[in-house]
Amino acid sequence: MNRVDLTVIGGGPVGLFAAFYAGLRGMSVRILDSLPELGGQLTALYPEKYVFDMPGFPKVLAKDLARQMIEQGTQFGPEVVLDDTCTTLTQDDAGWTIGTRSGGEYPTRTLVIAAGVGAFQPTKIGIEGEEDWLGRGLSYGVRDKSALQGKRVAIVGGGDSAFDWVLNLMDTASEITLIHRRDQFRAHEDSIEKVVASGIPMKLWCEVKAIHGSERIERITIQNSQTKEFEELPMDAVVVNIGFKSSLGPMLQWGLDIQKNQIVTDALYRTNLPGVFAVGDVCTFDGKLKLIATGVGEAATAVCLAKQLVDPNAKLFPGHSSDMNL
Ligand SMILES: Cc1cc2nc3c(=O)[nH]c(=O)nc-3n(C[C@H](O)[C@H](O)[C@H](O)COP(=O)(O)OP(=O)(O)OC[C@H]3O[C@@H](n4cnc5c(N)ncnc54)[C@H](O)[C@@H]3O)c2cc1C
Repeated sequence: MNRVDLTVIGGGPVGLFAAFYAGLRGMSVRILDSLPELGGQLTALYPEKYVFDMPGFPKVLAKDLARQMIEQGTQFGPEVVLDDTCTTLTQDDAGWTIGTRSGGEYPTRTLVIAAGVGAFQPTKIGIEGEEDWLGRGLSYGVRDKSALQGKRVAIVGGGDSAFDWVLNLMDTASEITLIHRRDQFRAHEDSIEKVVASGIPMKLWCEVKAIHGSERIERITIQNSQTKEFEELPMDAVVVNIGFKSSLGPMLQWGLDIQKNQIVTDALYRTNLPGVFAVGDVCTFDGKLKLIATGVGEAATAVCLAKQLVDPNAKLFPGHSSDMNL
């Protein structure tokens, strides 16, 4: 495998901007991501939610923002390797080699880690055969609202995501039932008030115990933990929103300075390893904000510093993009 100037671990919004900026600076770039598609949290966690704090967009759907960031991030033709998790990092004479779960080896001169919250997995409801229902009506979050058009949807959870989806699907689903294992919610008061006012049925103190159907979901069984009673509900889809488990996993063994599952950097986003930067949600320093708008700024700075490591004659500041012929 050829050695690139810069490897970006993580194809979320911050990693994509790093790839764009490195391309702008004439660097050869490789993006590695464990998910099967680019976009990070925007695509995986909240594609149908509006984002209101992106410069230049009064409001933008996360999936639309991801699409634009993917177009921008790949415009200089970086090599993109998806569906493979980075597991090892080995120093060599010319930089670093990243090893992946599938056995890939990717040499690089410098590295920007934009791994967000790490490779994340949704928390499951914990019923037998749960995975068999994936793609047959069971989902963790919503990727495509139109797939729920006219359907009877159970939304499981009591936090912001669950309540956002109840509100968001009111114009799409034929019926919505909220299922939550307590009678208290962690969602914003405003969302709770709206959902309560909507009058949708809420099954409180209840958990999904079984899913039934042939090709797709047809019914679910829930149990009330207070009364111990079971109830069967006709249902077409179950949308689970009970959180995600994430971990930096193998990255914790790379010799990086880690605090609370985040990579410690200095004010220039340098880690304790030479030529290795960390930006976006994965990094921590005094005053860190976990926002896309601040993360992309970190990425631009880290890339310009990496450029100088690869080419010591390069200026730190490349000039304005509006002065370039792209
Ligand atoms: C519900 C919700 C709403 C939000 N709303 C907003 C908002 O309105 N405005 C805002 O600014 N921010 C918002 N955020 C936060 C924002 O999404 C994050 O700050 C942003 O996604 C961070 O980008 P990132 O590129 O650093 O990481 P991520 O988007 O997490 O991307 C990291 C990528 O790295 C990959 N990865 C991780 N580990 C490995 C590995 N070992 N090997 C290979 N790949 C790996 C992951 O698969 C992932 O694709 C929201 C977050 C959530 C959950």
